[in-house]
Amino acid sequence: MTRSDLEVANDFVRRWGTLSKRRRARLGGEIPVAAVQVAALGHPDLATRRSCLFLLDHYASDASWNVFRLALRDPVASVREVALHGLSCERCRTTALCVADVVADLVDILVHDPSAEVRHKTVAVLARFADRDGRVIEAIARAAEDDADPAIRYVARHVAQSGQLHVRGRKAALRDARRECARRDAKRLRPL
Ligand SMILES: [Zn+2]
Repeated sequence: MTRSDLEVANDFVRRWGTLSKRRRARLGGEIPVAAVQVAALGHPDLATRRSCLFLLDHYASDASWNVFRLALRDPVASVREVALHGLSCERCRTTALCVADVVADLVDILVHDPSAEVRHKTVAVLARFADRDGRVIEAIARAAEDDADPAIRYVARHVAQSGQLHVRGRKAALRDARRECARRDAKRLRPL
């Protein structure tokens, strides 16, 4: 009986998890790419899907482009976050990223993803491509107006107005957005 892709991927993920750093690097060369790709999209356990996407990013990034794209539709936000990284990670790739394709996908996530965590991360990832694709600043400026989440509007406005591409993390941005709102309220309530 041949073992299913999910079983093969499961065993690999489990084995990888028990190894030291040095031995992980060696095992990475033996990754069963096809099985791990199937499991990244179809394994019922979300932690395994995350692990599979992580391993693909590190050891088979070039071959897994389409898997990352499909995983952007995973029902679980934390899985989509790993997919977002894999899709846009330039450190793990050996071939050049197709910026036009990646930006199109990222803009779509920024508009449509239901998770504020995911959209927030998308602003940060998109900003890295700002000088390579004109649609980036446009999309970020739109989010600064339209996003339902105040922290995302806050960071997006900062990028769009200052051109500074560093995007604050979610916690800090939520705090800053709250402070800004309180300042505005105070101004409005001040007696004339
Ligand atoms: Zn990476």
